Amino acid sequence: MKIATAVAQQQGTKLTVESAELDEPKANEVLVEIKASGICHTDAAGRDFATTPYPVALGHEGAGIVKEVGSSVTTVKPGDHVVLSFSYCGHCENCLTGHPANCIHLNELNFGGHNFDGTHRIHSEDGKNISTFFGQSSFSTYSVVDEHGVTKVPSDVDINLLGPLGCGFQTGAGTVLNYLKPEFGSSIAIFGTGAVGLSAMMAAKIIGMDHIIAIDIHDNRLELAKKLGATETINSQKHNPEEVIKTLLQAGIEYSIDTTGVPAVIKQAVHVLKPSGTCALLGMAGDVTFNIQEEVMGESKRVVGVIEGDAIPQLFIPKLVNYYKKGLFPFDRLVKYYKFADINQAFEDSADGSVIKPIVKISN
Ligand SMILES: [Zn+2]
Ligand SMILES: [Zn+2]
Repeated sequence: MKIATAVAQQQGTKLTVESAELDEPKANEVLVEIKASGICHTDAAGRDFATTPYPVALGHEGAGIVKEVGSSVTTVKPGDHVVLSFSYCGHCENCLTGHPANCIHLNELNFGGHNFDGTHRIHSEDGKNISTFFGQSSFSTYSVVDEHGVTKVPSDVDINLLGPLGCGFQTGAGTVLNYLKPEFGSSIAIFGTGAVGLSAMMAAKIIGMDHIIAIDIHDNRLELAKKLGATETINSQKHNPEEVIKTLLQAGIEYSIDTTGVPAVIKQAVHVLKPSGTCALLGMAGDVTFNIQEEVMGESKRVVGVIEGDAIPQLFIPKLVNYYKKGLFPFDRLVKYYKFADINQAFEDSADGSVIKPIVKISN
C-alpha cells in the first residue's frame, strides 16, 4: 500500500516526508495506522550517527489503531488502540526470563533496518529498500510491526498522547519501578530533567520515596520538576550537587540516575551514592574513567546500564496509562504537538531543550 514516511536519506540530513510502498503484514505481523509519534533522542542518533543503514524511515514512539493482523497474531485485533515499543525476539533466554529489553537480538532487531525474517517492509517508489527503525518506523502513516512490538491500550484515552510511553517515559519510569525497585523511605538523585529524568521522578513519587532530588542546568526545568514531585532541586551551574546532597544526607543517597551521558555528570551521580548505593546510567555516553578502588568497589557501589526501563511493554505500558488516568503520572504536561509537515522543527525544539517531548501528529 502507499504510505507517507519521514526518511533520513543520508547521515546528518534533515528528514524528508516521502511517498513509499509498504508490504502486507506477514503471519506474525500487525498493520497499524499511525496516529501520532513522539520524538526521542535516539531518532536524532538514527539521523546523525548511522545507527541503521540509510535510507532509514525513523520514528519509534508510535501510537495508532490496528487495521489488519497476520494469521498467527492473537493479542490484538483490528480496531484496537496500540502503542508501539521496541522490538524483541521473544525466544531467547533474556526474553523468556522476562527481560525483553535485554534480548540478545535487540541491536539487530531495532537497528539492523529489517524485520525478524531479514526482509524489508518499506520500499521507495523506485523499488529500493528503506530501513525500518526499532521495528516500527512510526513517522509513517502506516507501519507493519511484529506482534511483540505492539501493546494494546485502553481506547478511552487520547491515542495521540500515548506513543512516548513506548520509549522515553517507559525508560525513566521503568528504571525506577522495574529495575531499581527502591525501598520505602529511600532517596534518589536524578541528573537531567528531560523526558526520561522527569518520568523517573514521577515514578519515584508514585512509590513514595523520601528525597527526590532533581539536578539540571535550566531553572525552568527545575521549576517543572518541583511541580511534578521533586522534593529538592539543584542547578548544577550554581551549586555543586555533591556538596548539596552530602548536606542533606550525610552518608550519601541510596539511588541515582544519569540521563545526560555527560562524563563529569556521571561521575557526580556515582560520587553522591552512599556505600552500596546504585547508579543507573540511561544516557548515551562515551568513555568515562573511574578509580575502581576509590570510587566504586571500595564502597560496594553498583553502576549499571538499563535499557528501556527493563520493561515488558505489554505489561508495563497499560500500568502507566492507568496511573496517568488517576492523575499520578501526568506526562501530558511534558508534550507539545506538531504537524507531520513540521517534523524537522520538532526535532530542533527537542535538541535545544525548548520542548521536553514533541509529538508529531501523523494522520490528522
Ligand atoms: Zn530475545
Ligand atoms: Zn527512544
